[in-house]
Amino acid sequence: MDDRTFRNAMGKFATGVTVITTDHGGEPHGMTANAFMSVSLNPRLIVVSIGEKARMLDKIRESGKFAVNILSEQQQEVSMLFAGQLKENREADLDTIQGVPVVKDALANVVCKVYGTQIVGDHTLFIGEVEDIVLRDGKPLTFYEGKYGKLAETQLI
Ligand code: FAD
Repeated sequence: MDDRTFRNAMGKFATGVTVITTDHGGEPHGMTANAFMSVSLNPRLIVVSIGEKARMLDKIRESGKFAVNILSEQQQEVSMLFAGQLKENREADLDTIQGVPVVKDALANVVCKVYGTQIVGDHTLFIGEVEDIVLRDGKPLTFYEGKYGKLAETQLI
């Protein structure tokens, strides 16, 4: 199996899109991520997976806190901004919860303190213990086969 086959297979898993945010010496930093999942209800734990080259890695290690912001279908540009996919630099629309920067108007801001870390291959898993949540109504931005999308109206069977 080559890398392309592995990537293509993983791309068959449709996900939402998040931006992970943290504060580093008073400066907010964000990065787009879809490697996110809920891990445990008691205690309330989630996990994100961050590549070894991402600048976010050391920033979370140092701050010990981060937020996972689940993006709405209106926030494709926010995802592109925090993935370095926009040509121009932009000011990000951020708020703060418990001293942690969060993305305004996201479907959910999930604020965590680092509960544990595990280096796995070329990524680091950050397990976060959830300390605060803000929820908003709306529909999610999706990511499938390397492309952004929206949810079609689902029909209940
Ligand atoms: P940088 O490259 O330093 O920052 C990312 C971008 O955000 C830069 O353009 C920077 O200017 C901008 N930015 C950061 N903070 C601010 C701010 N405060 N105000 C304005 N702009 C700011 N990588 C993973 O490791 N794990 C994943 O799960 C993952 N999932 C992804 C899912 C999708 C849909 C996409 C598109 C990318 C994903 N990536 C993932 C790749 C990752 O988003 C990029 O490699 C990212 O650039 C790495 O972040 P960094 O910490 O090195 O940040």
